[in-house]
Amino acid sequence: MIIFKTVASLSTFLNDQKNKQITIGFVPTMGALHDGHLFLIAECKKATQLTICSIFVNPTQFNDKTDFEKYPSKTEDDIALLHRAGCDVLFLPSPEEIYPEGIPLLHYKLGRIETLLEGKYRPGHFQGVCQVVHRLLSIIQPSQLLMGQKDYQQCMVVRTLLEITGINTKLVICPTIRESSGLAMSSRNMRLSEQDQIFATSIYQSLLFAKEQIATISFTALKTQITEKLFAHGFSSIDYIAVCNAITLEELTYWDPATPAVILIAAFINGVRLIDNMLL
Ligand code: AMP
Repeated sequence: MIIFKTVASLSTFLNDQKNKQITIGFVPTMGALHDGHLFLIAECKKATQLTICSIFVNPTQFNDKTDFEKYPSKTEDDIALLHRAGCDVLFLPSPEEIYPEGIPLLHYKLGRIETLLEGKYRPGHFQGVCQVVHRLLSIIQPSQLLMGQKDYQQCMVVRTLLEITGINTKLVICPTIRESSGLAMSSRNMRLSEQDQIFATSIYQSLLFAKEQIATISFTALKTQITEKLFAHGFSSIDYIAVCNAITLEELTYWDPATPAVILIAAFINGVRLIDNMLL
C-alpha cells in the first residue's frame, strides 16, 4: 500500500494511473477503522482496479468541538488493517492540504434534507460533509465512491451533492456491518463500556421491532414503545426516532406500503451519541 500525505504527490500518481485507463474506487473515512470500513474496502476492490482509502477527521463537519477532540485516532493500527485488507492507496492529508489557506469554504444548496434529522441536531454538519467529500472527489476523481448505509442521511446528502455539482462518480451504498449482537459497528463504540455495548443493542432490536410491526401499529405507539425500551436500557436522551421517506427523508405519519420508508434513530448512552437505521 502506498501512503500519500500531499495532494500534489497523490495527483501525480493518479494521473499516471488514469493514463493507463485504471478504474479508481474511493472509500473516505475518519479512521479508527473497523470491519464496517473494511467491508467497503473489500467491495471497492471487487468493483474497481485501484482502491483508495482516505483517513481525515474533518473539522468542518463537527458542530461540537468536544466531539471532534474526543474522536478516536489510531493511525498506526488503521495502516496495518488497510495493508492487510489489500487497500492500494491510503491518502492521509493534513487539514492544510484539504483546506488550503485563503480558499473560502463553499456553501452547497442541499435543500431541506440538510435541515432534517442529523441536520437539525448537528447544524452545519452536512455542509462540512459536502466540503470534504467535494474536495476529496475533485482530487481523486474516482469512478466509484463507496459509502455505508449506517450513515443513511449522509448517503442521501452525498447523492444530492453529486447531482448539484454534476460530478461523474457513481455512489455505491453498502449495507451496515454489525457486531454479532446486532450493534452497528462504529468508531464511537470504542467509547462504550462493555455493559453499554450490550445495552446499545436495544437500538438494533428496536429497528427490527419496527420492521415487524410497522404495518400493524400507529407510528406514535411505535415511537413510544421504542422510547421506553431505550430508556430502560441506559439511554439518557433521544434526538429522534423517525420513520421517513427513504429518498427525501421527510417524516411519514402513517404506513403506506407504496412509499419506500426507512426508520432512523439517534440517541445518547453515557454521553456517546449512536445512530442507526433500517429500510422498512
Ligand atoms: P466514518 O469513518 O465513520 O466517517 O465512516 C466512513 C465510511 O464508513 C462511511 O461511508 C460510513 O457510512 C461507513 N461505515 C461506518 N460504519 C459502518 C458500518 N458499520 N457498516 C458499513 N459502513 C460503515
